[in-house]
Amino acid sequence: MLKNPKEFLAAAQARQREMLQWVKTLVEIESPSENKAAVDQASQQVAAWMRALGGQIRWHRQKNFGDLLEARFAAQPMPKSIRAQVGRAQNRVRPILLLGHLDTVWPMGTLARMPFRKTKGKAFGPGIYDMKAGVVMATMALRLLLEAGELATPVVLLLNSDEEVGSPCSRAVTEKLAKESSAVFVLEPAQGPQGAYKTARKGVGQYQLHVEGVAAHSGVDFEKGHSAIVELAGLVERVAGFTNLKTGLTMNPGVIAGGTRSNVVAAEATVEVDVRIARRQDAARVERMFRGLRVRDKACRLQVTGGINRPPMERAKSTVKLFQQAQALAAKMGFSLAEASTGGGSDGNFTSALGIPTLDGMGAVGEGAHAARESVEIEQLAYRTALLAAMIGSPENRNL
Ligand SMILES: [Zn+2]
Repeated sequence: MLKNPKEFLAAAQARQREMLQWVKTLVEIESPSENKAAVDQASQQVAAWMRALGGQIRWHRQKNFGDLLEARFAAQPMPKSIRAQVGRAQNRVRPILLLGHLDTVWPMGTLARMPFRKTKGKAFGPGIYDMKAGVVMATMALRLLLEAGELATPVVLLLNSDEEVGSPCSRAVTEKLAKESSAVFVLEPAQGPQGAYKTARKGVGQYQLHVEGVAAHSGVDFEKGHSAIVELAGLVERVAGFTNLKTGLTMNPGVIAGGTRSNVVAAEATVEVDVRIARRQDAARVERMFRGLRVRDKACRLQVTGGINRPPMERAKSTVKLFQQAQALAAKMGFSLAEASTGGGSDGNFTSALGIPTLDGMGAVGEGAHAARESVEIEQLAYRTALLAAMIGSPENRNL
C-alpha cells in the first residue's frame, strides 16, 4: 500500500529505467498526424501496455487519422471501512479522464537525423516531450496504483491521433468522455524549466482573408487595375489593430501571399491570421469583427473564411482546487509545483469549456516542443509520474 506521497515517489524512482525504456520504444515508432498507419502502430503499442495492466480497450475507428485509443480501468475494491464511508458502489463513481495524444509534428524519417538519445540527464527524440513521455508516465502511474491496490477511482485513458492538427476527428469523443468524468488530467508537457502545471490556456482561431482584384498592365493601363495587394494591405492593418494585449486578444497575420509579377496589378492576395483569445466572450466578438470587414476599393471582392477552433481554458475555481491539491502533494514529495497559463491550446481547452475541472501540463518536464532540441528531464519522469499517480489515487478525487 502506498500510504503517503513519498512512497509513490520511491516506487516511481525504482521504475525510472524501465520508464525510459518505454519512452524509447514509443519515440522510435514515428507517428506524424497525417500518417494513419504510423499513428496506429504507436497506439497499438500503448494498447498492449494497457491490456497488460488489465485495461479494457475500445477503439474509435477513424478513416483519415489514427484510431483513437480508449482504455478503461475499474476502481479496485477498497477496504470495508472506507467502503462504508463511500456508501455507494465504487464503480458508479465518475471516472477521472486521462487525456493525451500520440501524433507528433515530426514527418516520417525524422528519427534518422534526430534519434532517441540520452545525454547529461536529458533524453531527446521527436515527440518525446510533446507528448510521448507523458503517455508513458500515465501508463506507469496506473501500474503503480494497480500494483499497490490503490486505484480507488475508475480511470479512462483517451489517446487521440489528431491533436497537432487541431483535433478535427477526436474533439467529439473527447467531449463525450469528459462529460462523463469528474475531472480531466491532461498529459501535455509541463510549462518551462520549472515544469509548471497549466490552469489556463488561450483559445485559438484561424482566419483567412482572400481578396480578388482586377489585373492590369502596370505601365500600359494602370488605372484599369484594382490591386488585391493594396486592398489586402489595408485589411491586414485593420486586423492587426484588433489586438488588445490587456484582454489577451492577439492577431497574427502570419502568412501572406499574392500577385504574380511586379509589372502586373495584382489580381489576388491572401493572408492567414492566427487569433488567440483569453476570454470566452471574445469568441463571438472576434467572429463579428472578421465578418464585418469590408473592402475600400469597391472593385475588389473579399472572402473571409475560418473561425475560432479551440475555446479558451479559463482559470476555473474547480481547476485551481485541483492544482492546489497537486501542489500540496508535490510539497510532501519534496518539491514545489508552480502554476502557469499559456497562449498555446490543447484538448484541455475543450474539456474545460464544458465546465469539467481540467488540470493541464501533467506530463513531462523538458523543453523544445516542435523543435530540434526537443527533450525531457530524465530525473523528472519519476517525480511527475509519482505526482500523477498520487493525484489519481487521492482520496479527495474519489468523488465521494
Ligand atoms: Zn501536445
